[in-house]
Amino acid sequence: MAQGKLDGRIYDLVGVGFGPSNLALAATIREEAESRQSEELSTLFLESKEEFAWHPDMLFKGTTIQLSFLKDLVTLRNPQSRYSFLVYLKEAGRLIDFINLRTFFPSRAEFNDYYRWVAKQLDDMVQYGHRVTAIEPIEDEAGRVDFIRVTYQNLADGSEESCLARNLVFATGGTAKLPEGMTTTDDGRVFHCGNFLSQIETHFSDQQAAHEFVIVGSGQSAVEIFQYLYENYPQADITATLRRFAYQPADESHFVNTIFHPEMTDFLFDLPEADRERLISEHYDTNYSAVDLDLLAEVYKELYERKVEGNEQIRVRSMLELRELELLEGGRVRAHFFDLIKQAEEQIEADSVLLATGYERTGIPPLLDSLSRYLRKDGHGCLETDRQYRAVGQDGFRPQVFLQGFCEHTHGLSDTLLSVLPIRSKEIFDELSREHLQIEIQTDGELREPVGAAFASEGRG
Ligand SMILES: Cc1cc2nc3c(=O)[nH]c(=O)nc-3n(C[C@H](O)[C@H](O)[C@H](O)COP(=O)(O)OP(=O)(O)OC[C@H]3O[C@@H](n4cnc5c(N)ncnc54)[C@H](O)[C@@H]3O)c2cc1C
Repeated sequence: MAQGKLDGRIYDLVGVGFGPSNLALAATIREEAESRQSEELSTLFLESKEEFAWHPDMLFKGTTIQLSFLKDLVTLRNPQSRYSFLVYLKEAGRLIDFINLRTFFPSRAEFNDYYRWVAKQLDDMVQYGHRVTAIEPIEDEAGRVDFIRVTYQNLADGSEESCLARNLVFATGGTAKLPEGMTTTDDGRVFHCGNFLSQIETHFSDQQAAHEFVIVGSGQSAVEIFQYLYENYPQADITATLRRFAYQPADESHFVNTIFHPEMTDFLFDLPEADRERLISEHYDTNYSAVDLDLLAEVYKELYERKVEGNEQIRVRSMLELRELELLEGGRVRAHFFDLIKQAEEQIEADSVLLATGYERTGIPPLLDSLSRYLRKDGHGCLETDRQYRAVGQDGFRPQVFLQGFCEHTHGLSDTLLSVLPIRSKEIFDELSREHLQIEIQTDGELREPVGAAFASEGRG
């Protein structure tokens, strides 16, 4: 734990990660300050990537977003926002062409370009290429915590810096979920879909070679990767494996989709825990281990056409559970499966096993460990959060710590998705702006004249 001295710049808000969640918040902060003609919260977002990129290793041709473009960063909050997808299209000179596409679901590449267009306008709020390495409370002599020190590493030269945050918003996304006991390798033999394009392009650059691939997983990413591989590696032998009997279509039907409406957050949050859990698990297949019906039809058709041709290079094998990965001499890998129907072991050898096994956001994110003794835990071993996505602090802990993307079990299935970003960011902004203070501390720890009276009365430095 850091002690006393307040060295480094103080920000009203430091954001960890600059994906869509914190991008939506940045847009809200800027736009609200403009419309209220008030001073903007002093904010720094820290992002380890060198520039804005939305899941860049899964951005390939043919993939589309899985929600309406009207659920962009802002429209649900302010349909007149200058950061909307429609304004982006207008500026890009494609508005009429997009309208003529007659779709609500632009490509992921285009949506990423839209996000980058917004991010560019908010560049002054972000430091890219900086990874947050530590988040520590600063305790004063009385044991009170008013500030959080955020330490971050410049990934270009390895140097470290830190700053002080009056409030923190944590939006680092999920981390790769691997089957129990398994790890990825550096040589492309075993990797997670979160690194798909960079790994495949690095280790399997010859697209005409007869590589052998095994894919593990039954969700959208698994099937997208399957399609990408058979389209781009025409000589490859590809086995797509899944534990269940068949790929399940994502339920996008109208009534079910209302589970992603913003007002569902209040509804779910207020439910008794058991009812909330039941409702969330009943609608799990709107997002998890579920695949776009159109994509399933395309892949099924491909398999059928190959059957007609007598081409047996690609296949789907269901009811196979991956139990172990064995790295072999000569750069290959042997996947040990258990056939859940035959109740027998089965091995498949390949050049690479691609794990499309999802992402994890459970428990307390390791970066927040050092704060955890000041924050309350819930019965799931997670940080307890209130309706405004704020971790509930113990007495004497003043900073507000907001979590974006880690509250699914309390706030519902939208939490890890894009559906409620504009509304969530406004809710967080409203909490922050309640105690908006402009504070500047000199780097030697001396307090400069603060604008905010509340801070001045607490007089520390
Ligand atoms: C391939 C794919 C497609 C998807 N498509 C959809 C979709 O169509 N619709 C939908 O609703 N959801 C979709 N999702 C779900 C996805 O979670 C959201 O799209 C969205 O990315 C969540 O945004 P986020 O900002 O919370 O997290 P992320 O997008 O994961 O962003 C987190 C950011 O934090 C940065 N970061 C992490 N740790 C640190 C650190 N220590 N220091 C500094 N920076 C850090 C990361 O580099 C990253 O840029 C998709 C997910 C995937 C994987």
